[in-house]
Amino acid sequence: MTLPLRPDLAGLTPYGAPQLDVVARLNVNENPYAPPAVVVDAIATAVRQAASGLNRYPDRDALELRGDLASYLAVESQADFLAAENIWAANGSNEVMLHLHQAFGGPGRKVLSFAPTYSMYPEYARDTLTDYETLPRRADFTLDVDAAVKAIEELEPVMVIVASPNNPTGTALPLSETERLCAAVAKVPGGSLLVIDEAYAEFRRHGVPSALSLLPDHPELVVSRTMSKAFAMAGGRLGYLAAALEVVDALQIVRLPYHLSAITQASARAALAHHRDLQAQVDEIRAERDETVAWLREQGYTVADTDANFALFGPFEDREKVFQGMLERGVLIRVTGPEGWLRVSIGTPQEMALFRSALVEVVA
Ligand SMILES: *Cc1c(COP(=O)(O)O)cnc(C)c1O
Repeated sequence: MTLPLRPDLAGLTPYGAPQLDVVARLNVNENPYAPPAVVVDAIATAVRQAASGLNRYPDRDALELRGDLASYLAVESQADFLAAENIWAANGSNEVMLHLHQAFGGPGRKVLSFAPTYSMYPEYARDTLTDYETLPRRADFTLDVDAAVKAIEELEPVMVIVASPNNPTGTALPLSETERLCAAVAKVPGGSLLVIDEAYAEFRRHGVPSALSLLPDHPELVVSRTMSKAFAMAGGRLGYLAAALEVVDALQIVRLPYHLSAITQASARAALAHHRDLQAQVDEIRAERDETVAWLREQGYTVADTDANFALFGPFEDREKVFQGMLERGVLIRVTGPEGWLRVSIGTPQEMALFRSALVEVVA
């Protein structure tokens, strides 16, 4: 059969990391701790209640959920200036990002990002026929802001996307640099947005601020978050952003009606009510991360400074071979980043002990 597939999609394979049943799954930056029983019960109760109304479509605007997310950001990042109407939510921040591209991207429009970064960014652009351009990060994976400002002036992108902390490097963008990018984006004729993807925000080291604090003074700024990582709710599929009302209004034009199921809204609200229980181990994960980084450096590896729940380390002459050797020992990590580097998500102390002993064996 001849499929009428878009020519630009011919020969492509779907994105996705391996989902393997091994002892230590350290490849997609999940929180390794399952929700505690008290939260499981709260979610089950909320879902049971929602189930009794499943003959009706869910609240299309998800306003209660968006209000809960605003309250959470007020607690987590002192962003107490946000109302429900400043929040947009969707099925994972992947869908939030797709909505941004559907509303602001399109043929003849450019998105700018900084490589190496999240491998889904080019896919949102491809799927919305938006041009995707990248500038290289410096050798230590920080941004060359002078070069970025110049590129914004020249390319006039509709969106500039920076993951902070960046995946796969863990690099956070300092507020002063975020402000410089805001200023450059605000000058683009025809308008432009700076999207800071803070999927890993809750793991940042003490003293590293969130871009949320800049929102009141910067209508061109969008801050994206997710419940998939620190929140231990990757399976719940709930991502969100905070932005000016006009941005959120524009996103509503492209969303599918009822895109967030009643089950999703109910479980996310129950999880948000228990955010402290769900994130109880975030401090442990951060400590484990810092110990992992220190151990890798003691072993002689180069490790990127990280504010996330993973570490990028190397260099390896044959990283595929190291990846395979680790997998044979029950440790699934990720081949990503520049040639020669590997990424490990931070797991439980037991999982990280296995990671360390497996790595020592594999490179021996
Ligand atoms: C994991 C990740 C996300 C989260 O995606 P969800 O769809 O919310 O699960 C977003 N951005 C980056 C950079 C990530 O690494």
